[in-house]
Amino acid sequence: MAFAPAVATETVPCPLCASLAFEILFSAGDYEYGLPGEFFVSRCRQCGLMVQNPRPAFSEILRYYTEAYEPHHSPGTALVRRLRHRVLVQPKLRLIRSLVGDTGDVIDIGCGSGALLADLAQFGHWRLMGVEPNREAAASARGRGLTIAATVVEEAQVAAQSQDVAIMNHVLEHLPDPRQTVAHVQTLLRPGGHFIGEVPSPQCVERVLFGRYWGGYHLPRHLTFFSRDQLTRFLAQAGFREIRVRRVIQPSSWLTSASNYFRSRNSAAARFVSPHGFILLAAGVLPALALKVLGSAPILAFSCRKPSCR
Ligand SMILES: [Zn+2]
Repeated sequence: MAFAPAVATETVPCPLCASLAFEILFSAGDYEYGLPGEFFVSRCRQCGLMVQNPRPAFSEILRYYTEAYEPHHSPGTALVRRLRHRVLVQPKLRLIRSLVGDTGDVIDIGCGSGALLADLAQFGHWRLMGVEPNREAAASARGRGLTIAATVVEEAQVAAQSQDVAIMNHVLEHLPDPRQTVAHVQTLLRPGGHFIGEVPSPQCVERVLFGRYWGGYHLPRHLTFFSRDQLTRFLAQAGFREIRVRRVIQPSSWLTSASNYFRSRNSAAARFVSPHGFILLAAGVLPALALKVLGSAPILAFSCRKPSCR
């Protein structure tokens, strides 16, 4: 059955300053999954935040998470898993240990198929829980023996002030109302609890090189594109303290951008520049490290705390 693109759009307020005044920067398509539709990236005239606006209703955007949606699946070969563990998982394990030691309650919000939680279960003694609204991904995470709420975090049965660490990796940019969701996440944390996660960083060389094909746009699934300063401000507005935002590498990142570019031109090169091929993924490590040195890594990693007492 042909996929009918979303037609009606709405303009939503800026998640940082609530302004409704936007300037459209460009329109682009779904380059990663090739689903039809035209989407708009705009800049808030008041605070400069880039957002997808006007945009389809969120229920329409959800149709663009297909069954093949990659974050809902686990990485393939043993070599890719090993590389992923070394570059992406170990730093997260170290971070959580440095924050709360080896025990405590940790919730991974938007956990996909539970890859990170499975690693945490293997290498620590935390009480773990995942939240994942996509049913197939949630079922896959449960299949790993993990405790998963298959819904959005606002609907999940999680007691207030019950968590020491809340993780949101590559989730904030997908949320229809990030302010409201992050406010809810804060209620789940104990006083002094930690909120950590990652978002794509628009302040990167890749965005300059690839423009609308930059993998971080990921239209229409990504809705908000925080700069480092804007993310810091957003977390401060939500009441968090001790906010740190660092730039981190992601070896597959430039491959996604290159693949988007070639696919949009129906070029055969797209097949060779797949972000899932091991050789090219490995080839992504050096450029990624170089970009980090240049202060232009494509991911922002944040950590912050709920105040200890109010
Ligand atoms: Zn704004």
